Amino acid sequence: MNTARAHQPAENLLALHLNVHAPDISCVLPAFNEEENIEVIIPLLAQQLQLANRSFEIIVVDDGSTDRTIERATKLQADHPVVILRLSRNFGKENAITAGLEQAKGRAVIILDADLQHPLHLLQRYIELWDEGYEMVYGVRHRRSDQSWFLRNSSRLFYRLLSKATSVPIPRGAGDFRLLDRKVVNALNNLPERSRFMKGLYSWVGFKSHPVPFESERRGTGKSNFNFRGLFALAVTGITSFSNLPLRVWTGIGALISSLAILYALFIVGRTLIFGSSVPGWATLTVSILFLGGVQILSIGILGEYIGRIFEEVKGRPNYIVAEVLRPESTDA
Ligand code: UDP
Ligand code: MG
Repeated sequence: MNTARAHQPAENLLALHLNVHAPDISCVLPAFNEEENIEVIIPLLAQQLQLANRSFEIIVVDDGSTDRTIERATKLQADHPVVILRLSRNFGKENAITAGLEQAKGRAVIILDADLQHPLHLLQRYIELWDEGYEMVYGVRHRRSDQSWFLRNSSRLFYRLLSKATSVPIPRGAGDFRLLDRKVVNALNNLPERSRFMKGLYSWVGFKSHPVPFESERRGTGKSNFNFRGLFALAVTGITSFSNLPLRVWTGIGALISSLAILYALFIVGRTLIFGSSVPGWATLTVSILFLGGVQILSIGILGEYIGRIFEEVKGRPNYIVAEVLRPESTDA
């Protein structure tokens, strides 16, 4: 065994070494302008993981913050195993999570928001369920107090639409607050698509999963980065990357309109044969031209949405660019 090792190239030995030292758990924290929250959450998180008696690393993915998030996180490296992944600009939460998952080395990965909205004490329960053999443990938020009535209801409508339109069930309220076993992380890392709707992808990969209900806490400081426009864009990504229904609907509507038009034509022919021709009918004409024009433009728009996404995929640009990785000085990993 020893002699066999001696013949291995240095890189392999390093890989072996890294593997041996892989922590039990990697925590991925996407952070965009969270300077105050990051200082609070990291010590609390470390405390929870020590309580669970697991070795861990904390990966802060700095998603192009313009405040002092990086400086504050760097300071914490003296006391905690914090790895900072600085993305070259703001790539959005989904891509920040993707970056974190690819960087994580742990046998399990826990994803949580950096803004203290995800209750940390639940991590004990997550880890327990993981020990029981669940490959994915996900939080299901049953109420959100920090969103307006309008946002809450549009998100409810979105999930209802999505569950009708897709074949993978995407539970409402289930978000990014999750524990993923290494197997799940590898599966997610191997998905090649650029347009990342994480909530859909978690369901798509499958695995033995267990929900844990939770109440969303108030944000530490700062305010949510997702307004109606942001959520709407995410919703369009969600629908178009998980369903072809919007494309298919137009086949049905087109067929219906054409059949009605044929019936109407027959009716006109019959009427002309019996009563002779008459001039009136401009109203019917105008209405039908406008209506069909609208339907056509709308369906072209939907085609465009999919073609835009095909274009994104074909360009093959990376989902994110890492500007630098800051590791704590004391470790060699
Ligand atoms: N976030 C990010 N990049 C972004 C927007 C948000 O990494 O472009 C992070 C943010 O720092 C936080 C998490 O994603 O840790 C959730 O964001 P936020 O609190 O703004 O959203 P909400 O809680 O309203 O869903
Ligand atoms: Mg938040």
